[in-house]
Amino acid sequence: MIDLHTHSNFSDGTDSPSDLLNKAMANGLTTLALTDHDTVAGWQEARDYLRPGLSLVLGSEISCQTTDGISVHMLGLLFDPENEALMTMMAQTRDNRIGRMHKIIARLNAAHYEVTIADVEAQLSEGATLGRPHLADALVAKGYMKSREQVFAEVLHNDSPFYVSHYSPTPEVAIGLIKQAGGVAVIAHAMSSLRGRVVSEESFQSYVQAGLDGIEVFHRDHTIENRVLLSDIADQFDLAKTGSSDYHGNGKLNQLAEFHTAPTEFEKLEARANERRVIKR
Ligand code: AMP
Ligand code: ZN
Ligand code: FE
Ligand code: FE
Repeated sequence: MIDLHTHSNFSDGTDSPSDLLNKAMANGLTTLALTDHDTVAGWQEARDYLRPGLSLVLGSEISCQTTDGISVHMLGLLFDPENEALMTMMAQTRDNRIGRMHKIIARLNAAHYEVTIADVEAQLSEGATLGRPHLADALVAKGYMKSREQVFAEVLHNDSPFYVSHYSPTPEVAIGLIKQAGGVAVIAHAMSSLRGRVVSEESFQSYVQAGLDGIEVFHRDHTIENRVLLSDIADQFDLAKTGSSDYHGNGKLNQLAEFHTAPTEFEKLEARANERRVIKR
C-alpha cells in the first residue's frame, strides 16, 4: 500500500519521523511519503531510520495562495532538497508564519483569550514549521477548549475573524519551483470545502500548464462528487490520481493508510521526476 501524504512533528503532526516509519510498516504500507508543511527538516531522520520493507518518498506540502486569496496545498514529491530556489521559497514561508502567528495571537488577546507566543512555542518540536495547530494545542493546554478539532471549528478556521494568512507562492509558482527542482507536483485535497473557498474547475488548466503531475483524488475531506469530478479532470489532462491519509498523528482523526495510491498511478508520478529518488534499504 502506498500513502503519499503524511506529517511528522517537523510540522503539525505529533509523531517523530521514526515513529511514523514504524507505524507505516505496522499498517502494511510499502511506500510512504513524508510531506511536512513548507519544510524538508524531517528528511534526515526519516532517511536514517528507514528499514528494509518500506520505500520512502521524500516531499513537502507547500502552502500556496491564489491571486484571489484561496488557500491551496501543493504536494511536492521526489525533488532535490539542494535546490536553492525551492528551499528559499520554503524558508520565506516559514519566516512569515512567525509574524502571522503574532498577529493571530494579538486578535485572540483582544477577544480575551490569554495566550502568548511562549505558550505556542511550548507546543512546537525543535525545528518544526509553526502553524495554527500549535496555537490550537496551546489553547487546549490552557483549558479553553478540548481538542484541535474544536479550536479549528470555533476560532481558527479560515473564515474566522482571527484568521490571518501568511506569505505563500501561487500554485503555479510552487509547481514551477517543484518541477525545476526535478520533482513532481500533486495538488492536495483541492475540493475540500471544510477549508474555506476552493479553486474552480477551470483553474486546473493553468496548473497543468505550469506542470502539474497529479491530483489527490481520494482524501477523507472529499465527497463522492468531489472524487468523481477530480478523477474526470485527471483523465482529461492525463494526470496521476493519488489517494492518501494526510495523517497527523494524534493531531487529526485521519488514520495512516486510510486512503492509498494505486501502484500504476505512483509509477506514473515517479516516471515524471527527473531522477529515481525513491529511497530503499
Ligand atoms: P496553517 O498551516 O497554520 O494555516 O494551519 C493549517 C493546518 O491546520 C492544516 O495543515 C491542517 O493540518 C490543520 N487543520 C486544519 N483544520 C483542522 C482541524 N479541524 N483539526 C485539526 N487540524 C486542522
Ligand atoms: Zn497539517
Ligand atoms: Fe493540507
Ligand atoms: Fe497535509
